[in-house]
Amino acid sequence: MSATHPTILVVNAGSSSVKVSVYAVPEAAHANADINPVLSAHGQIEGIGVSPRLSASMADGRIVADERFPVAQVADHDAAFRLIRLVLSIGLRDAPPVAIGHRVVHGGADFSAAVKIDDDVITKLEALIPLAPLHQPHNLTAIRAVRAAVPALLQVACFDTAFHAGHDPLAQLLALPYEYFERGIRRYGFHGLSYEYIARRLQQIAPDLAQGRVIVAHLGNGASLCAMRDGRSVESTMGLTALDGLPMGTRCGAIDAGAILWLSQQGMSTKDIETMLYQESGLKGLSGVSSDMRALLASDAPRARLAIDFYAYRAAQEIGKLAATLGGLDALVFTAGIGANSPPVREKICARLADLFGISLDAGANNENRQRISRDNSRVPVLVLPTDEEGMIALNTARIMMEHHARA
Ligand code: AMP
Repeated sequence: MSATHPTILVVNAGSSSVKVSVYAVPEAAHANADINPVLSAHGQIEGIGVSPRLSASMADGRIVADERFPVAQVADHDAAFRLIRLVLSIGLRDAPPVAIGHRVVHGGADFSAAVKIDDDVITKLEALIPLAPLHQPHNLTAIRAVRAAVPALLQVACFDTAFHAGHDPLAQLLALPYEYFERGIRRYGFHGLSYEYIARRLQQIAPDLAQGRVIVAHLGNGASLCAMRDGRSVESTMGLTALDGLPMGTRCGAIDAGAILWLSQQGMSTKDIETMLYQESGLKGLSGVSSDMRALLASDAPRARLAIDFYAYRAAQEIGKLAATLGGLDALVFTAGIGANSPPVREKICARLADLFGISLDAGANNENRQRISRDNSRVPVLVLPTDEEGMIALNTARIMMEHHARA
């Protein structure tokens, strides 16, 4: 990719990692042509504050950094972000970024699409921290770090909630006193950048299916389902926070609200309950072995089996629920770390759906993670599509960058 193309950085700041990707944005052939950002480099720091490891590579596979650091040197997200910028700046010397796109987990009721970041946006995002305590503070740290270093640089927030903004009011309700709904205590839904990407991808590879009733299972460390009709989200298993719905790596998913009251009545503090529900539950809490699906699949501990079985049981159950919302099912799509790479988990989920939807998996295709893993006679086709949340952020950021330049 030529250095004359504008460059965009995509920043994805998680609870213990910061990932930065560099995209070149070729000029569109004409005003209405699709913008197509191209990945040119990627850097990340994992294990922030625990055992920091920096790695960075160019899109052609060339490794430019792979190093472990003492904790003191990368104690927080601020330090991590500075270090990645330094490493990537070697590759960016000829093309400094013209915009930065951030993954921001919660956009609340105020944001239904990506936005240019200003002081007012930051204030609104800060108010949402209690609804995404594991992610939102780190997203904001990255935004502030860039503002401090390069105040004039265009920054764009891309939200995990935005793709779900068109949900019917019924799908947004929690049955609390109505005044709480008016105060923004609603079911929003998350993983929207992943679902937006999958909706576009499905439109490219199977436009007939994309127009129908589709359930997408984003099964990674975080996990949720999205029910789509004609490429638009109509329901999600996640709600007000990213705790709801399916059990996840360390998050509990949907639980009886009475369980939280009980924990509180036992004298547990709100902070301790938060830590337990977000970081010590799900696959990790049930198995007592690991939050990582690969480790559980490799383990012969009975509770590792139990955790996997529960995971598949709940996923199948929620797929049935979303199909009821859609009034049927025309396709099921698996994505994210587990969804795109774990044949035994897909097999267990689909086995539970065989009678209800006439799903029949092709074992060979499933084992090879092929794009279509159902047999020809399966009443509902089942697909595997790797997601690309960062590519989606790059695209949304490039669109806002072009509007911004057109206006300037
Ligand atoms: P993500 O958050 O999308 O990166 O997904 C992380 C999850 O995907 C972890 O539970 C990993 O164990 C799981 N995962 C990644 N690759 C595989 C694989 N080949 N088989 C099973 N699980 C996998």
